[in-house]
Amino acid sequence: MSLDQESPATGTTPSPSTPALYPDSTASQWDDWRWHLRHSIKKLDTVERLLDIEFPKERREELKRTMDHFPMSITPYYFSLINRYDFENDPIFRQSVPDPAELHISRCDCTDPLAEDKDSPVEGLTHRYPDRVLFHVSNLCSMYCRHCTRKRKVGDVDSIPDKKNLLAGIEYIRNTPEVRDVLLSGGDPFLLSDELIDWLLGELSAIEHVEVIRIGTRTPVVLPQRITDDLVNILKKHHPLWINTHFNHPREITPRASRALAKLANAGIPLGNQSVLLAGVNDCPRIMKSLVQKLVMNRVRPYYLYQCDLSEGLSHFRTPVGKGIEIIENLIGHTSGFAVPTYVIDAPGGGGKIPVMPNYLISWSTNKVILRNYEGVISTYKEPDSYEPFFCNRNCDECHLQLPLAAADDDTQAIGISSLLADYEDTTTLTPETNERMERRDDA
Ligand SMILES: *Cc1c(COP(=O)(O)O)cnc(C)c1O
Repeated sequence: MSLDQESPATGTTPSPSTPALYPDSTASQWDDWRWHLRHSIKKLDTVERLLDIEFPKERREELKRTMDHFPMSITPYYFSLINRYDFENDPIFRQSVPDPAELHISRCDCTDPLAEDKDSPVEGLTHRYPDRVLFHVSNLCSMYCRHCTRKRKVGDVDSIPDKKNLLAGIEYIRNTPEVRDVLLSGGDPFLLSDELIDWLLGELSAIEHVEVIRIGTRTPVVLPQRITDDLVNILKKHHPLWINTHFNHPREITPRASRALAKLANAGIPLGNQSVLLAGVNDCPRIMKSLVQKLVMNRVRPYYLYQCDLSEGLSHFRTPVGKGIEIIENLIGHTSGFAVPTYVIDAPGGGGKIPVMPNYLISWSTNKVILRNYEGVISTYKEPDSYEPFFCNRNCDECHLQLPLAAADDDTQAIGISSLLADYEDTTTLTPETNERMERRDDA
């Protein structure tokens, strides 16, 4: 039984291009992304019919209640990857079919854990980091991931950005010269029409200070049919364009997904992947190693591995942070360096992504550092005796190092921890805004 062929075993031989689940669909329908959208699976009945199962009555009621809160939508393509004979443990099933556990709201859950709405100067745009913005250009998805961090917005037809919202976002970017990197997200930007994508990319790349545009899309995973020649021809007019996609399990890398990725890579688009660490789906070093290796075979660079967010309805997907560290421990050194993603926790409250790693630096003195490698071999690195620290006043004209000044960023203010390191800053302490001890001092 080869699930990678998009043809879950049904006992009959499927036609080469349409899966056995949809014997009535023609090959050209199966190749048409709009057909998949029109036939998206939104009802429990359909799930039961396609899997040839019947949920027990109580389970059905629970699932119904779950779907009232968090709707379901699955493309026939993605659904066809489910192994019917072990669907409850199936990673595709778990990512796409609701689980009543979603209704369990734990104490730390919040509707907007990343405070994306708070850091939003105009609706649909989050400006958190100094030089880049996250721009929600679509509220539509072809498949509603059960682990979606923006679950609160899924299926909310009222917040579909229209051209007016998009124009407001573009205007903000145009008026904010610090923004050199625009990240299009959603929803899925590739559910917009080709024309709208072309227009949007054209508007953004015409802005002089926008140096790079990125698109975050899950279509290569859940609807690879969307990566049409027409779309790719539009995308390649707007370089430098980067794409990040979202594979979570090696089973998702089907021949059809590979073809979609190859089209994008052949168009000169650097591809990255952002996975989410999900209990019961990919919380296993061997699965993750297989995933990252398959990704690089498809010219996709594993970019981030996310710790599951504190959004509502995700508690059953969360693992301890230690599981992520164990996975990274099993990747670094054990496989190609460029196959190892950065494991990050997107800090609640808008702190942004914080990388988390195993420790490799185990001790140090004034002239030596002690390191351990992936095998547990402990080594000494002798530091130079002759390195002369020089005082940096940020006056690059006087420095022997050659930075073409036109290329230098001109903000002279160091931010955060780097301000503690900088010679040219007097800051020696960072203190939380509310600190009783400091407040006592102010009173004195
Ligand atoms: C993730 C994210 C970005 C991009 O971060 P990178 O580390 O540059 O990929 C930008 N803005 C927001 C709000 C984000 O969450």
